Amino acid sequence: MKPFKVVLIITLVLLTVLVSRALLHNPKLQVAADPVEISLDQQMLVSHLAESIQFPTISYETVKSRNSQAFDGFQIWVSQTYQRLHQHLTLTKFNDTLLYLWQGSDTTLKPILVTGHYDVVPVIPGTEKQWKQPPFSGNIEGGYVWGRGALDDKSGVVGILEAVNYLLAQGFQPKRSIYLSFGHDEEIGGHNGAALVAEHLKRNQIQLAWSLDEGSFLLDGFIPGVNRLVAAVNVAEKGSTTLQIVGKAEGGHSSMPPNQTAVGVLAGAITKLENNPLHGGLEGLSLAMFDTISRDMSFTLKILFANRWLFGGLIDRFLSQDPSTNAMLRTTTAPTMLSASVKPNVLPIEAVATVNFRIHPRDTVEDVFAHVKKIVQDDKVEVRSMNWAGFGLGQAASRVSSWESDGYGFIESSVRGVFGNVVVAPGLMVAASDSRHYGKVADDAYRFNPFPVSKEQMTGFHGTNERINAKSFIMGVKVYIRLIEQASS
Ligand SMILES: [Zn+2]
Repeated sequence: MKPFKVVLIITLVLLTVLVSRALLHNPKLQVAADPVEISLDQQMLVSHLAESIQFPTISYETVKSRNSQAFDGFQIWVSQTYQRLHQHLTLTKFNDTLLYLWQGSDTTLKPILVTGHYDVVPVIPGTEKQWKQPPFSGNIEGGYVWGRGALDDKSGVVGILEAVNYLLAQGFQPKRSIYLSFGHDEEIGGHNGAALVAEHLKRNQIQLAWSLDEGSFLLDGFIPGVNRLVAAVNVAEKGSTTLQIVGKAEGGHSSMPPNQTAVGVLAGAITKLENNPLHGGLEGLSLAMFDTISRDMSFTLKILFANRWLFGGLIDRFLSQDPSTNAMLRTTTAPTMLSASVKPNVLPIEAVATVNFRIHPRDTVEDVFAHVKKIVQDDKVEVRSMNWAGFGLGQAASRVSSWESDGYGFIESSVRGVFGNVVVAPGLMVAASDSRHYGKVADDAYRFNPFPVSKEQMTGFHGTNERINAKSFIMGVKVYIRLIEQASS
């Protein structure tokens, strides 16, 4: 056979393999929205969310800035707005964190926990005027409920309260016990709230079948090439460690600097760190996530994802380019603070960079430290651990929960029941949540808010003009209703 014929045959075989694998790379499950309608008083629900936002339950880094009245006010509001809940469930308080127990009829079943937090982050001073509606107004305008906490996480808290309230009104009696927990200090680590709830459960030998906390949303238009909503149910959260990289040199007057100053040494080290990120790629959870999502992508992208044996390296490079997908693949490196000399004409002895790492479940705190030391290796560079935000030397990533469990299945079917054919995929939470505590007493810990959110809206999360679409909020309440009902029946 002539060489070009051989090449032609090989090419044809290869193309056939690539295309046929892509043709088989389709969404796994097709479920239609449940015809059973849940009828809610939409106006009342939306105004409840709006009212909850009006309490400025801000978590500050320092205790003395705290507005205790706002927290008390919020709790009184909950007890008055959800009286039925207070008649049927028992409440235990851990500081200002509220733990409710809805006793199930079958005590042999492991309970579940549905949770959120009602503290919020402050509004960045000076940005108040950029808000289209005042941040604690709870104004309902243009189809949105506006204000700090609309996404993070009063919609979660009020959504859960409304769902339980609805089920109680329907006379629903759970078989499996349900805990509801509403944290007051999630934004500053949850050490006096969720941590104590977890300790309490542990002390009483209560192991949860699973927990559902805030997390990702139903993402609208986030993933290139995917036209449907993507419900990323986070099954793990990243850890965090913060290191100081110190460049060292002789001090003295700036009129006679050495060839390399402490600042120059540090700059070299930081450049090396940015150019040598920790290893990352499609495996384990990241693989499960992108394998599910890519089944809804364009045919060209399907060819890539269905043929990872050939295009694996290309896909890794492609996903590493975008900050959001890169964060799913690896431990990220983020230099955030710099300091050196205190005067313009004085050479620093030390130039210090603070670098924050968000640790992927595949790495440990020690792995990060070792990696950094290896990369910046130089006798003029020192790597120091840093105790930031009470995490000690660092916080490991969480355990990875199962995406084949009953709990995950219930979340998936509730979301599909309300929203129809959306993409449901296991995801990785790149920020932290109270589940770092709850995960210790739960077989599986999930992190997901059942509200559709656009990319533009997401900028309000910890940012300016935080708001939630009122219709999305109502749909989310329905997911909570279906979930609690199914999971505890
Ligand atoms: Zn939050």
